[in-house]
Amino acid sequence: MLILIINAGSSSIKYKVFSYLLQQMSPVFSGLIEGIGETQGHWTHEKTAILKEKKPYLSQSHKQAFDDLKARLITDLDGQLIDAVGHRVVHGGTKFFQATMITPEVLLNIEQLSHLAPLHNPVNAQGIRCAMQCFSQAKQVAIFDTGFHNTLPDHTKYYPINRQLAKTYQIQRYGFHGINHEYVAKQAAQLLNKPLVECNLISLHLGNGASACLIKNGQSIDTSMGLTPLAGLMMGTRCGDIDAAIPLYLLKQGIASDKIDELLNKESGLKGICEENDMRTVLSLQQQGNKTAALAIKMYTSIIQKFIGGYLTQISSVDALIFTGGVGENSAYIREMILSVLEPFGFYLDPLKNNQRNTENGHSIAQLENKNSHEILVIPGNEEQLMAEKTVFLCA
Ligand code: ADP
Repeated sequence: MLILIINAGSSSIKYKVFSYLLQQMSPVFSGLIEGIGETQGHWTHEKTAILKEKKPYLSQSHKQAFDDLKARLITDLDGQLIDAVGHRVVHGGTKFFQATMITPEVLLNIEQLSHLAPLHNPVNAQGIRCAMQCFSQAKQVAIFDTGFHNTLPDHTKYYPINRQLAKTYQIQRYGFHGINHEYVAKQAAQLLNKPLVECNLISLHLGNGASACLIKNGQSIDTSMGLTPLAGLMMGTRCGDIDAAIPLYLLKQGIASDKIDELLNKESGLKGICEENDMRTVLSLQQQGNKTAALAIKMYTSIIQKFIGGYLTQISSVDALIFTGGVGENSAYIREMILSVLEPFGFYLDPLKNNQRNTENGHSIAQLENKNSHEILVIPGNEEQLMAEKTVFLCA
């Protein structure tokens, strides 16, 4: 069985093809089409880490990019047809939690949830529509990034605002990055050699967007993102948690709501503090003695520490702290900064292991010879793998 996983963005399509045979899921190739509808674009196609090509590529629309992707797949798969397509859909609202077979009604529902994720659900729906035309023989499945957080208990799901108002406008914590938090939780359970339903974990997804998730008995019971992905940790360009009165204050100063939206989503976080949002650049600026870069890193790591501390008060025991996402997986320095205050809470970092190269399935960076230490894991994110498994579960 051949499965195509699609993550459609506003100007990009990320894809990965898996082959499922004898209960084994194997990646075949993956790629990224960027700059759709723009004047400059690229197509990266990767068969293995060595067989990787990146070429300039222009397409006027998602439909054209999907048509070209179909032609490429036909060539690369020697004419074999895709059996199922799994789509990453950002928001499932209060309607969708599990992976769902897409029918015209489901697609309509996904579009109707656009008010909760205006930047994401419309393009996800567009990707689904294109894939339905290009891969009409294949079953289509939606996997929701909010789904894993369906298990949030009422006291972390609801905000302390007027209940009626919250009900009318569907205001609650939905949480995001759920597909990756779930994937790394499963990987952690394997590494811990323990059933997932017995695992208590704190997962830190630190990428451009960033979120923390508290997992009790394998289920999400708290997470830092909220109604939108703006909440929680300090991110590349998003502010995370700030005084809720700040946007109102800015509005009263005469700044338009669209501008405030842009300020908080695109001009804040690391970028707001030191003008750079790529952590590699921020770290190198800090090394050169740049004080605002140092401040940004101090803020970034101390906010994460506060979340970890808060989460530790909500569970009686923790099996592992997990680092994932571009920063979490690759920056030994940021991990060290975060963990520098956590020894009293039982997290002892092994500096040698912390500087080792990543392994695909994840590895420990804890001083496990220290009997008091909890496990600390670095687990490379792999949303596509979990999405492929969920797609097969529905379609095989
Ligand atoms: P996205 O949220 O867009 O999927 P990623 O998970 O790929 O993003 O994370 C992107 C972030 O990871 C960027 O800020 C980038 O600088 C950071 N990053 C990648 N490699 C490193 C590294 N070696 N050291 C520090 N940060 C890194």
